[in-house]
Amino acid sequence: MIASMLALWELILLMLSNLFSRLAGAKLLPPPPPPQPSTAVAGSSLACDASYCLSWRVAVETNNAQGWRTVPARCVLYIESYMLGGQYDRDVETAVECIVGYADGLVVGDDGMDAWVLDVDDTCLSNLLYYQGKQFGGAPFDPTAFKSWARRGICPAIPQVLILYKKLLERGYKVFLLTGRDQETLGATTTSNLILQGFIGHERLFMRNRTYRGQGAVAFKSTIRKQLVAEGYRIRGNVGDQWSDLQGDCVGDRIFKIPNPMYFVP
Ligand SMILES: [Mg+2]
Repeated sequence: MIASMLALWELILLMLSNLFSRLAGAKLLPPPPPPQPSTAVAGSSLACDASYCLSWRVAVETNNAQGWRTVPARCVLYIESYMLGGQYDRDVETAVECIVGYADGLVVGDDGMDAWVLDVDDTCLSNLLYYQGKQFGGAPFDPTAFKSWARRGICPAIPQVLILYKKLLERGYKVFLLTGRDQETLGATTTSNLILQGFIGHERLFMRNRTYRGQGAVAFKSTIRKQLVAEGYRIRGNVGDQWSDLQGDCVGDRIFKIPNPMYFVP
């Protein structure tokens, strides 16, 4: 009888001990993390946007997308990251490496007639500081605000293109700068901006004067290039951030596109 009571008591103690240890264990274990469907959805949405925006940017750079007015709203952050995060710099650097490789492979004539044509805005000089205040192209183009910015004459050089510019001059090419900026209102500022940033020694700077007002970039730039060819220059290469810099007549032996996903000039 006593033995069976002791056995029962031991059983009760064992059960209580198990119960206490379970409770203690339960307290030590952290609660399971709550499900977070909203974060997962947001993450997959961001990934989806990045994939979409990369495709959009490729379409822009290859000129498959034409006539676009603003960066799509869902790509503004992507373009900001592209422009400021290093990939834009890397892409410009690669473009310049391709240009230098090509230019180095040419034999430059000793008649001084081998020429290159370079665009100015976002080819030689950067407007990134201005576009930072315009959602990197997410806001519609504002010609008045842009003119005010250009009048300040503080556009920094795109460093890789400045290196290219100096190399072309060193190798004996004549460099012509060709911009759609208005000669009358922006001529002096643009000239001093270029000089201050190191773009010294070019043969000529062509700007849009009264004769060409209202003309599209392709027509205006074609006319100037035809004039150069008529003067006897051989345009060995043509560099611009817009396809309208690189299309039309007398575009040159080779064209090179500098990346620019922030705006489109028809
Ligand atoms: Mg340009």
